[in-house]
Amino acid sequence: MPQSNWPQTFSCEFFPPNTDEGMRKLFAAREELMRMQPAFFSVTYGAGGSTRERTFEAIQAIQTHSGVDAAPHLTCVASTRSGIREILDHYRAQGIHRIVALRGDLPSGMREFGEFRYANELVEFIRAETGDYFHIEVAAYPEFHPQALSPERDLLNFQRKVEAGANSAITQYFYNPESYFRLVDDCQRLGLDLPIVPGIMPITNYTQLARFSDACGAEIPRWIRRRLEGFGEDRDAIRAFGLDVVTDLCQRLLAGGAPGLHFYTMNQAGTTLAIGERLGLTTD
Ligand code: FAD
Repeated sequence: MPQSNWPQTFSCEFFPPNTDEGMRKLFAAREELMRMQPAFFSVTYGAGGSTRERTFEAIQAIQTHSGVDAAPHLTCVASTRSGIREILDHYRAQGIHRIVALRGDLPSGMREFGEFRYANELVEFIRAETGDYFHIEVAAYPEFHPQALSPERDLLNFQRKVEAGANSAITQYFYNPESYFRLVDDCQRLGLDLPIVPGIMPITNYTQLARFSDACGAEIPRWIRRRLEGFGEDRDAIRAFGLDVVTDLCQRLLAGGAPGLHFYTMNQAGTTLAIGERLGLTTD
């Protein structure tokens, strides 16, 4: 069933680079991506706090210079309540109003989960500390989280995050639109009334995509995988095919009532903009 009662929003995600040069590239990409008229730019956060300062830096620059909301991701694994409180205070002082609240994965070498076990506890904590100040986004998994005991349990765990106070959700990427529509139907059956925005991963590099997908449990359908494998090192062919596949996916999602799209840009503007142009989302 379409989520047509929500206005469509488009957004773009970055990761915080390690170097000044990387940061300059991110800002250049952000400038170009303004043509997508994004509702917000989000910046990921290294679970356990490994990118804390660089996420702060990227968020501050986006919030100050682009006139578009910046939305930091925040993970709670291996964190304390006081550490999270400090970060929330930092963002409030900067006028940041939107946050992507996640559990994260325990970094290798770390054994202690810390004071939060799951993302629903983080959402609850943010609400308890800051009331309705933040618009809270949470993660959703059309193909189920890799650690979920069953699809049903994963859905009930998603419900906990919504009931703890999430305003909207962004999905893990996927290439099978039916998995998304099924998730939306399941949520509607449970009475979960919030926009669930599909996360879109452009295809530009097969090796990297295969590695990510193995790690996060996203499926690359066999027909896509086999074709990408067949292109070998031919990057232009991969890019052209990826553009067709992902544009078609986006068209089907929007036609089916998806309340927008969230692009995993990998700090590159080109492919996301090319998809946006084909979808008629860009300004000149
Ligand atoms: P949760 O919602 O806590 O779920 C994790 C697992 O636990 C699931 O299997 C769920 O079914 C189960 N579960 C949840 N609650 C309970 C409960 N109360 N009792 C029992 N089981 C439960 N990672 C980063 O490190 N940094 C980022 O910036 C980042 N950004 C992301 C953005 C998006 C849009 C997405 C989709 C993912 C992102 N991730 C990021 C990855 C994410 O941190 C991992 O997928 C992580 O494994 C789960 O995070 P979560 O918030 O979905 O966890």
